[in-house]
Amino acid sequence: MAGQAKLRHDTFDRAGAQDDGPRSIVILGATGSIGKSTADIITGAKGSFTVAAVAGGRDPVALAKMARDLGAGFAALADPARYAELKEALAGTGIKAAAGREAVIEAALQPSDMVMAAIAGTAGVEPTYAALSAGRTVALANKECLVCAGPAFIRQAATMGTRLLPVDSEHNAIFQALGDADPDTIEMMTLTASGGPFRTWTAEAIARATPEQALKHPNWSMGPKITVDSAGLMNKGLEVIEAHYLFGIEAARLDVLVHAQSVVHGLVAFRDGSVTAGLAAPDMRVPIAHCLSYPRRLTTGARRLDLAAVGQLTFERPDFARFPALRVALDALAAGNGAPTIMNAANEIAVQAFLSRQISFHDIARLVERTCEAALADGTAHEPLSVADALAVDHMARERTRSYLAPAASSGMVTN
Ligand code: NAD
Ligand code: MG
Repeated sequence: MAGQAKLRHDTFDRAGAQDDGPRSIVILGATGSIGKSTADIITGAKGSFTVAAVAGGRDPVALAKMARDLGAGFAALADPARYAELKEALAGTGIKAAAGREAVIEAALQPSDMVMAAIAGTAGVEPTYAALSAGRTVALANKECLVCAGPAFIRQAATMGTRLLPVDSEHNAIFQALGDADPDTIEMMTLTASGGPFRTWTAEAIARATPEQALKHPNWSMGPKITVDSAGLMNKGLEVIEAHYLFGIEAARLDVLVHAQSVVHGLVAFRDGSVTAGLAAPDMRVPIAHCLSYPRRLTTGARRLDLAAVGQLTFERPDFARFPALRVALDALAAGNGAPTIMNAANEIAVQAFLSRQISFHDIARLVERTCEAALADGTAHEPLSVADALAVDHMARERTRSYLAPAASSGMVTN
């Protein structure tokens, strides 16, 4: 780990094209929450961007509309069964249509200045890694890339001299707060968490929470997976792991504070007692715009921060008893040996099972913890150094979590 104590400014600062013409962008996950906010920034910044390609999961109509609105050259849908619908929706536009897993990778590899990596979950790993490996600057929203395959991504970014720009609001705030600081002078990096919809709930009430309740985030409007992750603070656990790889900083110098107003997104404390922080209204268009135009600044219609209107900013320590998922994620980071990869895979299966009402909210963290413990105990766990290895570990972990799910209904795993 000693080698990781250095901040990887080089992954951000190596020069890419800083030309004066419009910047060409590929949007992976174009029909999702981050994808739509990215489109909004691009549309608002007339003449500053062109869109080389868009990729989405399984909604051909929404993807075709996005491709037409943005004037994209290429549109790729992950679901091959809906290729005909995509082709029909794009008929006469001159936009090339393709579908399937390979097509999404092809979209990632279309010539561009920057790839916005905003596919939800581990499905984003391969296309994002393909873009990185082709030397594209990557604006990284998809934190699962680094949780699943952090060592491979960071090594490849360094090898290729590719920039990874953090879209996640906390990491973007820290990135901006860091400036060109000497990494050795940093005492602590703090990521804030809103606390989600269950911040003030009792453990018993949280355990019984329904998908509808978990999907009602107080401050942010996001896709379903990250919203459920946020409700249990698993999202913050994923983000600590993301920060560990992105900034090359060890877990002991990474901290989490619950901050209900979501105004201060990240802080950096230095050894002389100084603290710098990144603040903004809770609007993802702010970090998205920062990445899209980096190192310049766009004028945007994003929400403005009015501190007088906010009035009070509050901070508290996270409560691990009520939010065990955060502890499970931090334990995975401490355990190493592929535990973050395993934890991330188990969490995706568990969140899906919760959303389809197979398990209770309480069961999410239990299932993830059980998967990690079993995988670490059977002697096969190891740090995956390549993306292929990480995806193999991910696959095995998914199978293991599913095997716990199947008998769950009869064994009392389901508590609601
Ligand atoms: P979302 O569910 O709203 O959108 C996901 C997008 O990915 C959709 O366009 C979907 O069609 C697409 N997709 C799914 N599977 C795909 C596949 N196999 N190939 C191609 N496209 C596929 O999710 P979101 O909230 O926009 O989040 C996207 C990523 O950004 C996640 O990793 C999330 O953790 C991260 N993130 C989101 C926010 C936010 O505010 N929404 C903030 C920080 C980080
Ligand atoms: Mg975040």
